[in-house]
Amino acid sequence: MILTPGATIGVLGGGQLGRMLATAAAELGFTVHIFCPDADPPAAAVAAATTIAAWEDEAALAAFAAAVDVVTYEFENVPVAAVRPLGDKVRPGPLALEVAQDRLAEKAFLAECGLPVAPHRDVASPGDIAAALEALGGHAILKTRRMGYDGKGQVRLTPGADVAAAFTAIGEVPAIVEALVPFQAETSTVLARGADGGIAAYAAPANEHAEGILRRSTVPGPLAAGLEAEAQRLTADVAAALGYVGVMAIEWFVTGETARPLIANEMAPRVHNTGHWTQDAALTSQFENHIRAIAGWPLGATTRTADATMVNLIGHDADDWRAHLDMEGAKLHLYGKRDTRPGRKMGHVNVVRRGVDFRLGG
Ligand code: AMP
Repeated sequence: MILTPGATIGVLGGGQLGRMLATAAAELGFTVHIFCPDADPPAAAVAAATTIAAWEDEAALAAFAAAVDVVTYEFENVPVAAVRPLGDKVRPGPLALEVAQDRLAEKAFLAECGLPVAPHRDVASPGDIAAALEALGGHAILKTRRMGYDGKGQVRLTPGADVAAAFTAIGEVPAIVEALVPFQAETSTVLARGADGGIAAYAAPANEHAEGILRRSTVPGPLAAGLEAEAQRLTADVAAALGYVGVMAIEWFVTGETARPLIANEMAPRVHNTGHWTQDAALTSQFENHIRAIAGWPLGATTRTADATMVNLIGHDADDWRAHLDMEGAKLHLYGKRDTRPGRKMGHVNVVRRGVDFRLGG
């Protein structure tokens, strides 16, 4: 399937990623139709059409699928049952969603593809958690298997932790206990895989998180060239095993150990927050490359054009939007969200620089 300009791209999910995909699609001459269960989605403001309906609304999904030439998603928790009936029209396909929606399945898949993952155990009760914590050396993180993002559904565990309280805190759902990785840095590989299997990978940034939420991504990042290429090769192996078409990401812990320098944390079957810097410091942004891939077009060059730091504007950080307009090298991106809530991603700033070292934010 190769789309021609003027074709309609359907996007499942209406958040900021859908909004930035829709903008990139419009720049290439496509029309975008958003499908989203929430009222007033940020992506709707920049799309030609929007369907607001539940994922379970089969008639609405069928009408949406009939109205578009290809379907993609911007959100990994789209129910697989909603995607499967769309058949070959969906890029990337449902397998990537299925794997990414369950942390246990995801770790098994990544390990099968040759990626080192943190030691972990499958748990479903306080007793399981206690046993896993002991087996993993007493420092670990309890994570729900499903529906966790931005640090939600996670509890840190230390030796002698109140495992019953931890299980209650995550809602008493199936989970994993994962050994705490004493990492030196965090990074990620964001790459596009074309419909022909070709790969275009971006530079791996240094990613800084606070309270489980990404705060900043800086390129160049922490990896020496050889290790960055290895991370790209491993990510490409995962993409190939998934038969993936589009942009995906693997998040890595950088350990500083020679034997296992990289440990895969998780994968994202979509454009990724740690790739937002590509909008202003790469020849082709991750959003454009996702659209090119799903359109069956050749991928664009991922060449980095400058040093850059992407700073997320979280909650009331975005109230300071005016200050970023005057800052040298700063490019402001706001998502048009009406309600500011703590922890909500409201926008980001890409600070692009050539030889100037300045830092923004806390
Ligand atoms: P996640 O939602 O699994 O990506 O976790 C969010 C953030 O929590 C990660 O980016 C890390 O900063 C931290 N984190 C998650 N898992 C671990 C781990 N096993 N060891 C150390 N830090 C972790």
